[in-house]
This record gives sequence, structure tokens and C-alpha cells, in this order.
Amino acid sequence: MQIAVYPGSFDPITYGHLDVIQRAARLFDQVIVAVAQNEEKHPFFTLEERCKLAATATAGLANVEVDSFRSLLIDYVLQRKARVILRGLRAVSDFEFEFQLALTNRRINEQIETIFMMPRDTYTFLSSRIVKEVCRLGGDVSPFVPPPVRSALQARYAELAESAHCNRSHIG
Ligand code: ADP
Repeated sequence: MQIAVYPGSFDPITYGHLDVIQRAARLFDQVIVAVAQNEEKHPFFTLEERCKLAATATAGLANVEVDSFRSLLIDYVLQRKARVILRGLRAVSDFEFEFQLALTNRRINEQIETIFMMPRDTYTFLSSRIVKEVCRLGGDVSPFVPPPVRSALQARYAELAESAHCNRSHIG
């Protein structure tokens, strides 16, 4: 049984992530989408929200599971009895960080292999950060994320706008 762990912030999951997940699901017996807590990155969505959105987006893929982890990635991979860490590579800009991460993980455990997958060319520009920025400015994010993610983004930005409005009214 070949199990691959796909770790990331998934803040939120996009069609770029999903493209990588679908490709991996055809190659591995099981793919675990491992949502990192990453509190130091101050995620936009909570860990629970990110997991829920990822689970909804991958519901149609029978051999894909969504889980979360807070520990060292290698420890989590071993705990899940996986041998492969899956990462996505978009452009040259991803390379340096991914290279550093993969070699660090190899230094920690030689038995775990990092495998990179490239998304379809139309998603090579896509990042969770860009999607949030487009949504924040009122743009249509439907080409980039599944409908439940778009709704969650819109709801969160509406909430933030509302609380900013209330704060201004209090000050005024
Ligand atoms: P992290 O905070 O670990 O970078 P992300 O959720 O941003 O988490 O990304 C998880 C993985 O998915 C990373 O390897 C990243 O390069 C990859 N990834 C993100 N967006 C895309 C995309 N559009 N196409 C392919 N891979 C992607």
C-alpha cells in the first residue's frame, strides 16, 4: 500500500491543490491531505475550517483523506505509515523553498521521499494568497476555487467588513 502525504496550509484549498491531489490519487493507493496548523502564519481560516473545506472539495475522491497535524512533518508521515511527501511545484519561484524543505526532511529521515507534481498550466499562477486578495477586493474567484470555498471566503470578508464598519461607528 503506497500512501502519500500532501502537507500544506490549504488556506484555503484551490483548484491548483485539487489538480495535484487528483493526479496523486491516480498514482497512490491513498493520499492524505494533511492540513498544517501553522499558527505562526496567522491563517485566514481556522484549522477546522480549512479541513472542512478541503474535505468537501475532495469528497468525490474515494482514496483521498483529509487530516490535520501539529507535529514535525516527518513524525506525522511515519505515524501514518507513509513513505512519500507530496508537494506541488508551480514556477521557479517555488523551487528554492521546496528544495530546502525536501533536503531538510531527507536529512531528518532518509527513508521518506519527497515527490513534486506540476499542476495543469492554467493553475501554475494560482495561490491561496492571490485568491484571498482577489476576493477581498470584490473580484470573482469562481475560476480558482470550488463553490463552497468561494462562499466561505465571501462570508468571511463580509464579516470583516461589517466589524470594521461597527468599529468605525463606535469611534465616530
Ligand atoms: P504551504 O504553506 O505549505 O506552502 P500551501 O497550501 O500554500 O502550503 O501549499 C501546499 C503545497 O501545494 C505546496 O507544495 C505548494 O507549492 C503547492 N501548491 C499551492 N498552490 C498550487 C498550485 N496552484 N499548483 C500546484 N501546487 C500548488
